[in-house]
Amino acid sequence: MADRRRIVAGNWKMNLDHAAAVELAKGVAAGAGKCGGVDLILCPPAVYLEAVAAAIDLTDGASPSGVTLGGQNLHDQPKGAFTGEIAPAMLVDIGCRSCILGHSERRTLFGETDAIVNTKTKAALAAGLTPIVCVGETLEEREQNRTADVVAAQIQGSLAGLSAAELAGIIIAYEPVWAIGTGKVATPEQAQEVHALIRQQLATLADAATADQVVIQYGGSVKPDNAAVLAGQPDIDGALVGGASLKEADFLAIAAHFAAST
Ligand code: PEP
Repeated sequence: MADRRRIVAGNWKMNLDHAAAVELAKGVAAGAGKCGGVDLILCPPAVYLEAVAAAIDLTDGASPSGVTLGGQNLHDQPKGAFTGEIAPAMLVDIGCRSCILGHSERRTLFGETDAIVNTKTKAALAAGLTPIVCVGETLEEREQNRTADVVAAQIQGSLAGLSAAELAGIIIAYEPVWAIGTGKVATPEQAQEVHALIRQQLATLADAATADQVVIQYGGSVKPDNAAVLAGQPDIDGALVGGASLKEADFLAIAAHFAAST
């Protein structure tokens, strides 16, 4: 197994206000030192990116705490008449190093297909951002034993045309849709099985050595009390955390479990 980084990202979605975002960011930065060996990424609502960057003393994309910033979405075009959208270079400009792409909420609520996720992934890479590409099956698809096919198609479609070097640097988040925000978490065995399958798919897009370098996060109701068993799985390299990332202590406790597993 490659010596992969452990990466835990907090997806704040459309939550918090300015003051709460600043307070949470400061708290995470202050506690990050206890999660040695784990990279922490905060993905606040776009309007709070600048305030969070200031709260964690971000300079040139880096904070003294090691915490970095990520976007929750981007547009694939560099600029122009796209009202309400955010260009990849704008995220970089404000201090982001990464961006969540293809989250299930964007896929189901905003019609993002694998083809759209693919163009966004390429745009993110071209701007120097690390894409955090989300994949995952619905409950219906799992019950119909279609998980492997669905996730394989998402990986192939979302990452088509990327070079081996580009693939090696991306982050993938396996997020079973039925586990997001529901309190239902995949068992460690269920998650590990799909993570291994994702790595096999990555090998078909590049080669086994490249696939071995890719950080694959699990997402879906990760909490402090289930993070340790997930972190103990060989192909689970971190977590994409929604609800629990809004609580400083919970987010740091989850990250600490991944630190302990390194
Ligand atoms: C998410 O939205 O990416 C997520 C995993 O949410 P939660 O942790 O709340 O299930």
